[in-house]
Amino acid sequence: MTRSPAAPLHQDKGRLIAKVAANSPCVILVEPRLAENLGTTSRAMRNCGLTDLRLVDPKVDWLSDKALAAASGGEKILENARSFNTVAEAIADLQRTYATTARRREMVKPIFTAKGAASDMRGHAEAGKKIGILFGRERHGLTSDEVGLCDAIVEIPMNPEHSSLNLAQAVLVVSYEWFQAGYDGPQATMAFNRTEPAAKKDIMDLFVHLERELVECGFLRDPEKHTLMVINIRNMLLRAELTEQEVRTFHGIIKELRYGRRPDRPPRQPGVKAEPPPEPISSRMRRPR
Ligand code: SAH
Repeated sequence: MTRSPAAPLHQDKGRLIAKVAANSPCVILVEPRLAENLGTTSRAMRNCGLTDLRLVDPKVDWLSDKALAAASGGEKILENARSFNTVAEAIADLQRTYATTARRREMVKPIFTAKGAASDMRGHAEAGKKIGILFGRERHGLTSDEVGLCDAIVEIPMNPEHSSLNLAQAVLVVSYEWFQAGYDGPQATMAFNRTEPAAKKDIMDLFVHLERELVECGFLRDPEKHTLMVINIRNMLLRAELTEQEVRTFHGIIKELRYGRRPDRPPRQPGVKAEPPPEPISSRMRRPR
């Protein structure tokens, strides 16, 4: 796992945003009817770094209160949205277009999953092409004529018994895959909360401390098994990938187990009083009967 000091997965935000914005596809909604869908579409686009929204003969005001209320961060995209009379006009300046549809059409045309389309789009975007993705009407989707104008089909693989997504959700899935296809950061990171992974020297010192005390207390008393047991205990601790803070805590635990409240314990720091022992977590977590 790659480590990242409490930062989000994508560390280099500026670089990522620039990369995402370059030649990002435009979203074309054909005859959208619901203001909420316009708002949530703009929001999804904003989330995924897309900016160019085109509307073909919209049946609702895209700057209505309802649309703007649903935009939540995507308002600028709505304000800059352009309206066209026909699909042909909306795609006139584009060089590659994709038609999204949940229904199989009887035509010879490549059909991509959303993920496949995203990587195809990235290739074309890198070659400098202007790309558009068409989304159909809430009730009837895209006509075959409209699909026929596009270079490829995008079919988001969903439950075959109910594969039709809400318009804005379909925009989100396709835009998300576009975004992911341009994301080259790690898929998982470890957030270190103001500490660092322990250096091997600190780990080895801990091993020595622990082994010494385990011999003292009699846990490691069988010379024949000694080496194997120590190696197993070390492996246990190595799998925990201890941080510097955790190593310090572990030393403290060993020390307390060794001396506890016994009279021979070395003096605590001056002024630090021993608190009464708290209730163990295990008994606190038990359900009341
Ligand atoms: N009832 C319509 C679907 C409308 S959903 C029909 O049968 O075609 C509105 C739009 O969301 C669709 O036109 C399409 O652009 C997109 N969409 C919804 N589900 C999709 C899916 N599974 N794959 C690709 N696009 C989808």
